[in-house]
Amino acid sequence: MKEIIKAIEKLSTRLMRQVNLMEVCGTHTVSIFKNGIRSILPSNIKLLSGPGCPVCVTPVQDIDRMLYIAGQPNVILATFGDMMRVPGSNGSFYKAKAEGLDVRIIYSPIEALNIAEQNKNKKIVFFAVGFETTSPSIAATVFEAERLGVENFYIYSVHKLVPPALEVLLNTEELKLDGFILPGHVSTIIGSKVYEFIPLKYKKACVIAGFDADDILQAIVMLLRQIVKDKPEVEIQYKEAVRQEGNPRAIEFIYRYFEVCDSNWRGIGVIPKSGLKLKKEHSHRDAEAVFDIPEIKSREPMGCQCGLVLRGLKIPPECPLFAKICTPENPAGACMVSSEGSCAAYYKYGRG
Ligand code: SF4
Repeated sequence: MKEIIKAIEKLSTRLMRQVNLMEVCGTHTVSIFKNGIRSILPSNIKLLSGPGCPVCVTPVQDIDRMLYIAGQPNVILATFGDMMRVPGSNGSFYKAKAEGLDVRIIYSPIEALNIAEQNKNKKIVFFAVGFETTSPSIAATVFEAERLGVENFYIYSVHKLVPPALEVLLNTEELKLDGFILPGHVSTIIGSKVYEFIPLKYKKACVIAGFDADDILQAIVMLLRQIVKDKPEVEIQYKEAVRQEGNPRAIEFIYRYFEVCDSNWRGIGVIPKSGLKLKKEHSHRDAEAVFDIPEIKSREPMGCQCGLVLRGLKIPPECPLFAKICTPENPAGACMVSSEGSCAAYYKYGRG
């Protein structure tokens, strides 16, 4: 590791200017904080955390809409545990459960399908949150629901696609990004080719990285080399898992059931073509099509700066609520809920 750190120091001296690199993967964020990587970098190399946590980027509007559905007669809401504590306008899924709604925590989408099979007189709605890493398993669950003829299984899809969000960040002038540490897990599915617009159109460096401290430091060396040489490209550091073309079978499976749609991201707003919704021929499983959801006036938690944190424009301690009102035990905003959220990672590892 000493050698890698020396290489970073050497390259940073050659650059003689501030370099801004952003990671857009919650697992990277946690690893960076846990291993104290920010603190060992030369002062002119800055790491920023982007919108890499799927729980964090799910907007309050979708939580409110999902809570409306959960409040309808004979509905069971199935969700991943992390979503339970994310605040909606009038409370979280936990609060709704405490008040008597049937909300169940699941660990994989197939569990939601099992609940549907065991409760034929109820409508089971799965809150499908995640990036490209999760969507193949959701598509597989829809396939299974069709195969088994389970009619009472529905999906509320807030699935997000990473590349369009990167383009928004690249167009955020205040960030002055020089490069991305690209997500390892997502890239096992979508491959490296999809990022080629970043060096070609924006002339920014890209490295897809693994998750250990060594991997991330190695990725930083690769990024700095690209910047020193002024030759931006998409490199793969996480070679054991990522191929140029990704996983074509998983991709084919996703698009058998889903199609690309515009999607609302917390703190960023609607990004064109950045989400996935069920295709028309599968709309009988689309909770948004099946339930008549009224217009809901949503509101962000007062004082919460998640939007700015998610775009890398603020660090968590710059939020006035951080560690005072907002803590992992009592989160005021989404970024403090999941362990992969920037605020939670900063709270746990970054305060020393
Ligand atoms: Fe939102 Fe809490 Fe983070 Fe502030 S500290 S930005 S309230 S999650």
